[in-house]
Amino acid sequence: MKRRLSILGSTGSIGRQSLEVIAALGLSVGALTAHNSVALLEEQARAFRPELVVLTDERAARDLAVRLGDTPVRVASGREGLLEAATLEEVDTVLTAVVGSAGLEPTLAAIRAGKDIALANKETLVCAGALVTRAARERGVDLLPVDSEHSAIFQCLQGRTGREEVARVILTASGGPFYGMERKALERVTAQDALKHPNWSMGAKITVDSATMMNKGFEVIEAMWLYGLPLERIDVVIHRESVVHSLVEFRDGAVLAQLGAPDMRLPIQYALTWPERAPGPAKKLDLLSCPDLTFLPPDGENFPCLGLAREAARRGGVIPAALNGANEAAVALFLEGRIGFYDIPRLCRAAMAAAPDLGEPALADILAADAQGRAVALSAI
Ligand code: NDP
Ligand code: MG
Repeated sequence: MKRRLSILGSTGSIGRQSLEVIAALGLSVGALTAHNSVALLEEQARAFRPELVVLTDERAARDLAVRLGDTPVRVASGREGLLEAATLEEVDTVLTAVVGSAGLEPTLAAIRAGKDIALANKETLVCAGALVTRAARERGVDLLPVDSEHSAIFQCLQGRTGREEVARVILTASGGPFYGMERKALERVTAQDALKHPNWSMGAKITVDSATMMNKGFEVIEAMWLYGLPLERIDVVIHRESVVHSLVEFRDGAVLAQLGAPDMRLPIQYALTWPERAPGPAKKLDLLSCPDLTFLPPDGENFPCLGLAREAARRGGVIPAALNGANEAAVALFLEGRIGFYDIPRLCRAAMAAAPDLGEPALADILAADAQGRAVALSAI
């Protein structure tokens, strides 16, 4: 199948790598969106000639419209623009690479419009996993994982139909730049330290999430929804080398893993070519020059965020959305140098404690909990 795509968040780390893959595969683009990166979106629009480009920032969108005046590309803005890009008639697949819960509503809109989803925006499943997976089932659309761990599991599960065959999945975690450090030292780390990720070059927010291990906690929740598994059957191991991207243990004891160079272009590409494979731009793994592969337990003592995410998943309802909102606000404050490393879990814990226990939340409840989580985090400073 030759997909025609909308890329939500095309100017980010995942968005830019997606366009490399799309160019290599010769796929076409219907819409591109960003927040306020005018110059890069103009460049992308000229290269890929989509029908529509969107900047959610109104002022930036006006600027872009002037710059693209000599082309047939239409420019839209704001939340409406983002929703239009997600539901564009001529597009069959939406790649969601917006950062944060801003990705939730456009992803749901795309599903309801019958688009397959190549999902990078994990916050969507953290906040609204039940709602989103139900909508996808009802509409008969595919949720194709872009996150490298979930792509690895997806690849290991090809050809298997029964979930009861899966004993557990094992997510690998690089451990981020601070793995092995003790509390005393961690209390003093800065945003600059956190942004030096050992293996992956990613957007600032997810890089901080990797340093706190919140990213892995979110990925546990993401795996729970994508693969319909209970929390107890999702494990995490620290694997510093980022060569084994995750593993599945079957009930007979067999363990399948997917290996590769740490290069997001491979999981992005697999989401777009599935169920087939094609040659592509991702770096190849050279086993003979690859480092020794090591596996260690996560350090829940010094890195409490993984445990917090598990607790949020156990409580369910809107708690994961409250956690996500607080985490987004706290990470932004940490990046501005206004709070310390351990304030992130502290503010997240406060937001989870303040959130109500609701059985089956509607979208409005989820958005309210996310907003309240942000407010709790912001009011604590
Ligand atoms: P980046 O910060 O690099 O890019 C974010 C993109 O979203 C940019 O295009 C940005 O536009 C746009 N954007 C930011 N805020 C908003 C908003 N409020 N409304 C609409 N658009 C917005 O992030 P990443 O590419 O690193 O991550 C994107 C998603 O993919 C995240 O959910 C992350 O968890 C997930 N992911 C990322 C991986 C990676 O390797 N980077 C790996 C696995 C998952 P602008 O440039 O104008 O600001
Ligand atoms: Mg990941």
